Amino acid sequence: MLTFLASVWLVALPNIPLWRQLAQLPEVTGLRGLLFGLGLAFGVMGLTHALLSLLNWRWLLKPVLTVFLLSAASGTYFMWSYGIVIDANMIVNVLQTDPREAADLFNWRLLLSLGLLGVLPVWWLWRQPVRSMGVLRRLGGNLLAFIVSVAVLVISLMLIYQDFASVMRNHTQLRYLINPLNSFYAIGRVVAQPLERDNSKVEPIGQDAQLVLPAGTLPATLIVVVGETARMGNFGINGYARDTTPRLAREDVVSLRNVWSCGTSTATSLPCMFSHLGKEAYVKRSSNHETLVDVLQRAGLAVLWIDNQSGCKGTCARVPSISTVTLKVSPHCDSGECHDEVMLHELDKRIAELPAERRAKGVAVFMHQMGSHGPAYHKRVPPAFKRFQPECASNALQQCAREQVVNAYDNTIAYTDHFLAETIGWLKKQPGPSAMVYVADHGESLGENNLYLHGLPYAIAPDVQKQVPWITWTSPAFDQQRGLRKPCLQDKQMAPLSHDHYFHSVMGIAGVRSAEYKPGLDIYGTCMASQSRP
Ligand SMILES: [Zn+2]
Repeated sequence: MLTFLASVWLVALPNIPLWRQLAQLPEVTGLRGLLFGLGLAFGVMGLTHALLSLLNWRWLLKPVLTVFLLSAASGTYFMWSYGIVIDANMIVNVLQTDPREAADLFNWRLLLSLGLLGVLPVWWLWRQPVRSMGVLRRLGGNLLAFIVSVAVLVISLMLIYQDFASVMRNHTQLRYLINPLNSFYAIGRVVAQPLERDNSKVEPIGQDAQLVLPAGTLPATLIVVVGETARMGNFGINGYARDTTPRLAREDVVSLRNVWSCGTSTATSLPCMFSHLGKEAYVKRSSNHETLVDVLQRAGLAVLWIDNQSGCKGTCARVPSISTVTLKVSPHCDSGECHDEVMLHELDKRIAELPAERRAKGVAVFMHQMGSHGPAYHKRVPPAFKRFQPECASNALQQCAREQVVNAYDNTIAYTDHFLAETIGWLKKQPGPSAMVYVADHGESLGENNLYLHGLPYAIAPDVQKQVPWITWTSPAFDQQRGLRKPCLQDKQMAPLSHDHYFHSVMGIAGVRSAEYKPGLDIYGTCMASQSRP
């Protein structure tokens, strides 16, 4: 009885996000749509109950049902509020989150949903008696329940098979909404992953890496800014109706508008950007490799990673790095967490601490921004930079008017504009040639079609989650030293590019070559005078 009631409850309430999406599908409407929905509901119920039947043992049942009910309740909240779905990538995001990120998601609506959909039925559940029964009788009962459940599943799906096949094929996201089985399946995928890939070791790359700059040239300073959650289309310099980037507009930058991300979350995009493999091979990789920062370090450059985010996801493990989490620099960290400008604080001093023989060859500083990380956009921006008002000051984005969400988000882009301009200002003060490359890890949904945040499976994610800004600034001395032709780079403004070009282009602009370098993927190389071998 408990497993049956639990199955009915789970199908009816925690699966509301699934039923809402189903109701919006154009191909299943009217009576046929209703029958399809009923068939699917019975199918999901059969599947849930079949699983529960196998786990229906006296001391196991209540803990199992508790896990089902609580997982379902939290899944419902996030799917309903932000339009996300739960797949293996989302589980990785959850596992890699830090207390700061988690706190950003916390609000009383989350508590209320967990209470009503999770704690309340669990409280009721633990007050129910479970009859003790002989093992054989229990086994027999479970087997019978399992067979009946599977029969309900099969018959329901057979009755709606025609619609079921086409809907599931055309709307793959629906399967990630089946709650709470989506969470269990995704966790299973994550747990099984080490079987497909040996995560215990990191294979070296770029062992032949070397600098290929003309002899006697001054060492260059390169700052590579890893942007966070930045939508290409919300940058004024990319044609956005609102002037979110007045300071970059005054600099001699080249901004590319047709660049596509590797993934839709930091956990997938960031390591993929810094991998030599490219998206397709990265997803299928059978082992982990060293990254772009290792290659630059092997070539002899002084490399530094500064992180104002939840960490570099292993990318910077073997180079000097600084996390801003413990910094208390005023005014940048006054609000409890540091705004991105903190990464420029005492930068000269930090670079001076790197080995002198490396600095003599050149410096490459990676800065991992907090950028536009949601949902608490308002926290990312110092008060003086909140130009677009009124802004959504809540993390429950769906409760704010859309313009307020967009205002809060655009304020983060305006602050990134300020941060990048300050970075360029710092570079201009360096004695040698200097350059800045800014590329974001992925974009963001701002309430279009009830979608918020990011992290949808790549195949179904909207373009705004995948199209990222790529902005380059170089000093006149740099252009001269490398023979970089800006108009040539400018011509690539609308060229279809992706994170696949990132590894090779940063190597190119850093003047580094190794066996992994592919000239065809270096967007700067083709615009530079051929660099002489040492
Ligand atoms: Zn990210």
